Amino acid sequence: MFRGTFAVVNLQAITNNVRTIKGLLRPSTKLLVAVKADGYGHGAVPAATAALAGGADALGVASLEEGLQIRTAGIEVPILVFGRVSASGLPIAAEYDISVTLTSDWRNEQIPRRSKAVKVHLKLDTGMSRLGYTDAEEAADIAKWVMSREDMNLVGVYSHLACADAPDDTHLKGQVGRFEQALRILAQHGVRPRLVHLANSAGTLRNPDLHYDMVRVGVSAYGYPPSPDFTLSVHLQPALSLYARIQRLAVIDVGQTVGYGATFTATRRTRVATIPIGYADGYFRILSNRSEVWVNGFYAPVIGNVCMDQLMIDVTDIPEVKPLDWVTVYGQAVPQIWNQVDFSSQPDAVRTEFVLETFTETAAESPVVSLDRLAKQAGTISYELMCAISPRIPKIYF
Ligand code: PLP
Repeated sequence: MFRGTFAVVNLQAITNNVRTIKGLLRPSTKLLVAVKADGYGHGAVPAATAALAGGADALGVASLEEGLQIRTAGIEVPILVFGRVSASGLPIAAEYDISVTLTSDWRNEQIPRRSKAVKVHLKLDTGMSRLGYTDAEEAADIAKWVMSREDMNLVGVYSHLACADAPDDTHLKGQVGRFEQALRILAQHGVRPRLVHLANSAGTLRNPDLHYDMVRVGVSAYGYPPSPDFTLSVHLQPALSLYARIQRLAVIDVGQTVGYGATFTATRRTRVATIPIGYADGYFRILSNRSEVWVNGFYAPVIGNVCMDQLMIDVTDIPEVKPLDWVTVYGQAVPQIWNQVDFSSQPDAVRTEFVLETFTETAAESPVVSLDRLAKQAGTISYELMCAISPRIPKIYF
């Protein structure tokens, strides 16, 4: 933490969010929490552990490699790989009891022999046009092949929703209709897997009719709605906050410019603060001259182009800004006490302890710079900003 940049991941928030979501489900409905992409940037294993503490029954990942990371960390609940696993990966999936998604025909591949049966979820494409079987008869055919094998165990059937967050439910209704129809055709062929699942966060929060035997939530577990305008019926708390401290303060004159490409020109004497966050940390360059950070209780605009490791902000109108003051890049406001004590002089371990002790006071507050706000400025969604947080940012787990 010598750079003066770090993230705080509020694991209790993840636990609370998962508990809240679990409270919306029937007792018999399982809750899978997606921890792919390093737990949406929060850290896969800590996020998984926090989700389990909140009542998650299963975890979702994008690849077998991500599944192995969680399994080898000692987590024992069911893990489902959403993406395609090549036939050569099946023995590893079986050995580590990681469930795989059947999205294409393994019959065309060389399947290595293995001793344990691998758990399989059949994927149906009902309108996302991404993965899975569009044709239910074809899906039934491959499902029967899976069921005929001793080394495979068909445990689930699922699909993924493309527009469950949209106010207009036409697309959603179409997907649900095709899913139901496919389930009927599968059943006619004697294919009735134990776990039927469809809903992501939006589907889960929107309508209990979409819950089936299991729901798969990601973004809501991390405290954000699936889209900024989505009306939440429950309180969710964002878990991720990113902080950096001012490393330089300088005043520039009218006509002077800031940053690469000189995209900002001062129209008044401007106090410029430089903070150690850049696009290599996951703060997108598109945010240049369009976003704000939070400094001493005020928003300070980002001026000039965001650099790889640093960015500049205008603090002219903000009183009492000093070098080494902490800035909230996004998430909950920096506790004021951070700017009142010199915790640079303390050894690392103590600093972490200090952060943990002092963070409590703001823990329940809503973010001053929400990822939805930043995502809007960047022309993207909160998901992308979460996942973009670079591994070089140290994380303190609260
Ligand atoms: N299920 C699948 C197959 C996914 O790919 C994802 C994430 O994209 C989810 C569930 C969770 O979605 P969300 O984060 O919108 O809840």
